[in-house]
Amino acid sequence: MKIFCVGRNYADHAKELGNSIPDEPVIFMKPKNALLQTNTPFYYPEFCNELHYEIELVLRICKNGRYIPQKQANKYYNGITVGIDFTARDIQDDLKKKGLPWEKAKAWDNSAIIGTWKDLTAERLKNPFSFSLKNNNETVQVGNSKDLIFSFDAVIAHISNYFSLNIGDLVFTGTPAGVGECVVGDVLEGYLENEKMFDLDIK
Ligand code: ZN
Repeated sequence: MKIFCVGRNYADHAKELGNSIPDEPVIFMKPKNALLQTNTPFYYPEFCNELHYEIELVLRICKNGRYIPQKQANKYYNGITVGIDFTARDIQDDLKKKGLPWEKAKAWDNSAIIGTWKDLTAERLKNPFSFSLKNNNETVQVGNSKDLIFSFDAVIAHISNYFSLNIGDLVFTGTPAGVGECVVGDVLEGYLENEKMFDLDIK
């Protein structure tokens, strides 16, 4: 199982971190061990001094493929949820400054959180998805898939030009504006439309 992530896929988020709008999807990966298993506590990582939440729509790959045409891409995912792409922002800022890879900031154990899955149909995919994140009961991020720079299908097609997609792979599709710091004791809740998909206590 592989976890693909898209960076800078919402214009307002690219701007808030001082990044330009990309002309093709920015792709990075997290390893299998990055996925926090169900009923496992989440601990604030020891190496980090500025942990950021990033709420994202996450797709579940249901078909193996490579070189997938964008028009066929919606046949390759059949589930959606929200998740958090946890980021050690202090480490990422340092790595970015030095022009180094992001893995130590983004791909560590338990840095990927996902909620419960909703099955997707072609019919449901005709309409956009709204989503949000609450921290300690206050809404801190709100997004909508209609604001994606690169659509779900564009992202899947692009990834498949470089990597085989396999059943069970996950795609984190990017975070909207409002990323921010969280600390031990915070309680994060992810919503897809108005439905809560996960609760996470930071220990
Ligand atoms: Zn992200």
